[in-house]
Amino acid sequence: MVIVMRADATDSQVRNVVSRIEAAGLSTCISAGQSRTLVGIVGDKRLIVTLPVEAFPGVEKVLPVTDSYKLASRQFRPTATVIDAGGVTIGGGSLAVMAGPCAVESREQLLEAAEIAREGGAQFLRGGAFKPRTSPYSFQGLERRGLELLDEARAATGLKIITEVVDVTSVEMVAAYADILQVGARNMQNFKLLQAVGQAGKPVLLKRGIAATISEWLHAAEYILSEGNYQVVLCERGIRTFEEYTRNTLDLSAVGAIKQLSHLPVIVDPSHGTGRRELVRPMALAAVAAGADGLMIEMHPNPAQALSDGPQSLDPAEFKGLMREVTALAGFLRSAAAAANG
Ligand code: PEP
Ligand code: MN
Repeated sequence: MVIVMRADATDSQVRNVVSRIEAAGLSTCISAGQSRTLVGIVGDKRLIVTLPVEAFPGVEKVLPVTDSYKLASRQFRPTATVIDAGGVTIGGGSLAVMAGPCAVESREQLLEAAEIAREGGAQFLRGGAFKPRTSPYSFQGLERRGLELLDEARAATGLKIITEVVDVTSVEMVAAYADILQVGARNMQNFKLLQAVGQAGKPVLLKRGIAATISEWLHAAEYILSEGNYQVVLCERGIRTFEEYTRNTLDLSAVGAIKQLSHLPVIVDPSHGTGRRELVRPMALAAVAAGADGLMIEMHPNPAQALSDGPQSLDPAEFKGLMREVTALAGFLRSAAAAANG
């Protein structure tokens, strides 16, 4: 349920509404819009109906939230959420780029990749220290040593770090190093993990599951938000379809759908989304045009030697070329929108 305050409601009326709702054992979530404040109520429906909310001073009306995910819903919070990850923002009109190798393989490989990511203009270095591999015989990651190398790369470049957490037991360890915790596609519905990252006190990037609907994805985000962590970024990374030419089918319509349904920022990963290096550029440009808040790009100093996902990794020159194009396109779209809107 969302309470719409009157345009002339005072701060003390808003505070009064919040304290009466919280005194009844419910939680609130405030959205201060341009012209009026909205107060979302979460909790047991039976408690909500006992409150004479419409009669509270300053209240204009009460609206039901019909989506079954509430905190993630745009009905509940109409203004776009902007994430702050160690001082770098995601959402709110800027384009965040997370780039780096699939896996942290060695000190030399990671520091070189980090330098290329920085030179290209990325804000985040990505790289898995824990790798959820399809085969148990494939490289599983350097684990704690990988996290230490990411920390060193952050100190060397100033880039923020995003890295995957694969299970509940390692959340604390990964959170001690990462600026953003990544929950991978294979874990999107690992509800215990979602709750644990919801309590970890760090922003979370939630990848769409391999066979997840948009509704299931937003419900997964709701698990994190319902732990009190509102710093959630969604990432479209392709879904499984009958198509075999590409590794996955990148669903760019999800960007527009998420913007309609939710206030959370959404980024696109065209690397896992296509599995093919030559398709990363067109899909990255299309994602920016579709309104994505950022991109996740796999890049390796020497893709032919990569221990994982070499075929979809850009080399340094391809990455820098892509960054120039993406930056130019984002600038063009901003000025086109400004011109069209007068
Ligand atoms: C990754 O980004 O390292 C990864 C494993 O991606 P996904 O979870 O989307 O497969
Ligand atoms: Mn990968």
